[in-house]
Amino acid sequence: MHYDDNLTAARPSFVTHLECSETGEAYQADQIHGLSRAGKPLLVRYDLDGVRGALTKDILADRPRDLWRWRELLPVRDAANIVSLGGAETPLIPLPRLGARHGAAAPIAKDEGRLPTGSFKARGLVMAVSMAKALGITRIAMPTNGNAGAALAAYCAAAGIEAFVFCPDDTPEVNVREIALQGAKVWRVNGLIGDCGAIVGAGKEPMGWFDLSTLKEPYRIEGKKTMGLELLEQLDWQVPDAIFYPTGGGTGLIGMWKAFTELEALGFIGSERPRMIAVQASGCAPIVRAWEAGERHAAKWEDAHTVAAGIRVPAAIGDFLILDAVRDSGGLAMAVDDADIIAARDRIAAEDGLLLCPEGAATAVAWEQAVDQGLVGRQDRCVLFNCATGLKYPMPAADAWLDRHQPADWAAIAAA
Ligand SMILES: *Cc1c(COP(=O)(O)O)cnc(C)c1O
Repeated sequence: MHYDDNLTAARPSFVTHLECSETGEAYQADQIHGLSRAGKPLLVRYDLDGVRGALTKDILADRPRDLWRWRELLPVRDAANIVSLGGAETPLIPLPRLGARHGAAAPIAKDEGRLPTGSFKARGLVMAVSMAKALGITRIAMPTNGNAGAALAAYCAAAGIEAFVFCPDDTPEVNVREIALQGAKVWRVNGLIGDCGAIVGAGKEPMGWFDLSTLKEPYRIEGKKTMGLELLEQLDWQVPDAIFYPTGGGTGLIGMWKAFTELEALGFIGSERPRMIAVQASGCAPIVRAWEAGERHAAKWEDAHTVAAGIRVPAAIGDFLILDAVRDSGGLAMAVDDADIIAARDRIAAEDGLLLCPEGAATAVAWEQAVDQGLVGRQDRCVLFNCATGLKYPMPAADAWLDRHQPADWAAIAAA
């Protein structure tokens, strides 16, 4: 098959309508929507019997390997609205030395850092921006901790949509610069992501922009759901025992959970599910606190701080959807310390050769603790989501230096 068939072939989308995630109230497809009337995220629904007739495992196997291979299960109807910067199926990378340290089977990293703009935010934003294009939206604004803004900027540039991005003033420098370079207008704000979101909300009227905040529009989750579809296809439809997911707004966790429901309806898998393990940083762990207290909604976390910027989300509008998925799957919510995150990132890079982002390293720390405490089995097949390339984050200095005019001290070089 031609390399870009996913982007050009005429294929039906089987979207039927949208649905309020809390009340189940139906909303028409193919119209601009934000939150539901109840103020909750909207979920996209499909005619899954129709998909079942159109998409088989064999048909899938023949398609080019990027997220558009799932066209029938995605909301974009007309291929002309697909905005692409190239895509990839992200690899599954076993970490045998990490496993051996705990006398366990190697956990498997799904390395989302290989995607355009270096993070899995590309999955959500390619879908949301393609739908914005389909719906005639010409101006978008978004709060971000960095990676989402970068993906938004890139896809809006490609789509010819104007983008305004607001990020906390301590957002990683590389993110702010890549957002600016990719054609968006970006502001640093002296606050956290919720404060940036308030600015986006306040600007809706005067600026006439569309609010693309996490879960405040229905399509980012459809892009993120492809992580679940893709993962199970890569595992030959064998559901793993557990998925460790670094949870901020939770789009990916909610999206994967939705993907599994859809795959079951298609007959691709049965009723088995992975345990969904939501991982947060101990400096910002609202979901963990709510999970431990047995609550369905998570109160805002005050004074949030963590080196893992992508999961520094004090309040998540989809909190109940995250918590429902964690509970329904028999999963867990775990908080890990920044010092452990950085130590794990450094050790795994040196021992297994994979440079994780801090958020990805957080899942590794949670896996280590879960195995050591018997919360997951040593032989369980566990998947860790590395959501961004480790190259976007500050790294420790490496300042060894040689004077080429002096004789080399080979013993010192060997011992370094
Ligand atoms: C956004 C982000 C997360 C959190 O993803 P959600 O699906 O919004 O919870 C985790 N890690 C990185 C690197 C991110 O950019």
